[in-house]
Amino acid sequence: MKEAKPQEIILKGIPASPGITFGKTLLLDREQYVIQRRNIKEDQIQNEIKRFKEALIQTKNEILEIKKRISEEMGVEHAQIFSAHLLVIEDSMLIEEVIAKLKKERLSIEYIFQDVLKKYIKVFSEMDDEYLKERISDINDVGKRVLRNLIGAKEDPLGSVKERVVVVSYDLSPSDTATMHKKNIIGFATDIGSRTSHTAIMAKSLEIPAVVGLEVVTRRVESGNIIIIDGTHGTIVINPTPKTLKRYETDRKRLADIERHLLELKDLPCETLDGRKIKLAANIEVSEDIPSVITHGAEGIGLYRTEYFYMNRKDLPSEEEQFKAYAEVAKRIKPHHVTIRTLDLGGDKFLSQLDVPREMNPFLGWRAIRFCLARPDIFKTQLRAILRASMFGKLRIMYPMISGLEELRQANAILDEVRQELKKDSILFDENVEVGAMIEVPSAALTSDILAKEADFFSIGTNDLIQYALAVDRVNEKIAYLYDPAHPAVLLLIKNVIENGHKAGIWVGMCGEMAGDIAMTIILLGLGLDEFSTSPINTPELKRIIRSVTMEQAAGIAQQALTLSTGREIERFAKRKLKELVPDITIEVE
Ligand code: PEP
Ligand code: MG
Repeated sequence: MKEAKPQEIILKGIPASPGITFGKTLLLDREQYVIQRRNIKEDQIQNEIKRFKEALIQTKNEILEIKKRISEEMGVEHAQIFSAHLLVIEDSMLIEEVIAKLKKERLSIEYIFQDVLKKYIKVFSEMDDEYLKERISDINDVGKRVLRNLIGAKEDPLGSVKERVVVVSYDLSPSDTATMHKKNIIGFATDIGSRTSHTAIMAKSLEIPAVVGLEVVTRRVESGNIIIIDGTHGTIVINPTPKTLKRYETDRKRLADIERHLLELKDLPCETLDGRKIKLAANIEVSEDIPSVITHGAEGIGLYRTEYFYMNRKDLPSEEEQFKAYAEVAKRIKPHHVTIRTLDLGGDKFLSQLDVPREMNPFLGWRAIRFCLARPDIFKTQLRAILRASMFGKLRIMYPMISGLEELRQANAILDEVRQELKKDSILFDENVEVGAMIEVPSAALTSDILAKEADFFSIGTNDLIQYALAVDRVNEKIAYLYDPAHPAVLLLIKNVIENGHKAGIWVGMCGEMAGDIAMTIILLGLGLDEFSTSPINTPELKRIIRSVTMEQAAGIAQQALTLSTGREIERFAKRKLKELVPDITIEVE
């Protein structure tokens, strides 16, 4: 009998990082185990059964141990749930089914086991019986334990990836993404996440096409499926037909042509038609991003997110290590500036080596400058490293998440202490390093007139500013439709910051993702933004737009936009104006 062809499935999610890629999938399960769809030979079957039985025994022992501990500490009734877990693990039907399937399909035992579990979960979830439905979580919990024992918990689940793959996962943390550049990962797709999560931002830096917020992708994909990731439009295609593949291959070539064409602007000045110079800088996360900054023609770095330095390691980076890294970036980017943002731990970025408790609202919690002011030891080490490195190029210091003048003053007082200590030790540093504040909290935007008197520059962090102003969690795909850079409230806050900065005689930049959103470029220009800092890949397109408009036109468009009532109206208006000024721009206008 002829085998049925797998069906083509198209899913729509949130575009996280542009570009088109296709390849074989590698499915990580929810706890990020690599489930290998490995073929096995006849003579390996017994060994796979042995591994399975050992994992079951190990899991049973673990459950018995937990059950005993819970009984002692909390009482027997609380330990009952583990009796239910034991029933799952001792279910002879399940065990027999796994072994029979293994013999028939000859695939790795972890793959088969997961497949059988999925089937059980599906059957139980379709039952009307509430009691049986509740057993789903028992099956899930026990399944995870068995898988962990089969595979062995790995610190870096992507460490063993040997061939070029597209990773499919429920979620990926920023630290997972940070290690991808060393791997064979050509794209990724996740169930959750949003455009401004640090995972998405990291993907853009690595120039890996990615789609997030797909909600069900891990339930539709199996390891080894062929998948297309269209990170530009936020679409993925599982099991594409040859016709679909051909269409995407054509699209991929077309995008590459556009990119090549845009790169021709690389060495042209970034200025408006009437000669107003605009600073076009890039955001980087790791030093591996520097070549991309240079090839895309960005003039310096408007945001160096230093927290990746602290991730994926067991210790904290020493002053010496940081000094070397910052000095290296300063040298490579010279004569342009490098804006080093001090540690912005928290939110969606966690460091395993620091004992920071998980919080209910991490984005509103102990993060960024709040953490650094509470841990001056860590903060001072970084500031010393930056100041020392300032001798090797042009560095700036920028504090994240300043919410009011007191915080800015406290940070500056610590910086002053560091300056005095360096002087005492006769260590040279650039005395004129500019020190700025990120404006990413509405309270800072509203009091930017006060802050401007004690800062050398502002950089608007719209990723956070939007989430705080509109009360929309920036990493939650369910409310991503409310995350609206064009919202009048957001524009008013930005206008206020730029005006207050200029009144005090300081320059104002933007380093949130909105700075790279082409629909918003002309409005931001018209509001008087001095520096745009964005993923390097966005810079050529921004330059093209800025070079196609006069300041007067941009100011008129910004003014008109501010008379409109909703984000949708403003976005539609801005896109229409953009299309008029740059007719061959690729943007969908409603
Ligand atoms: C921002 O909030 O806009 C920003 C640039 O900082 P991050 O995305 O790292 O929070
Ligand atoms: Mg931020």
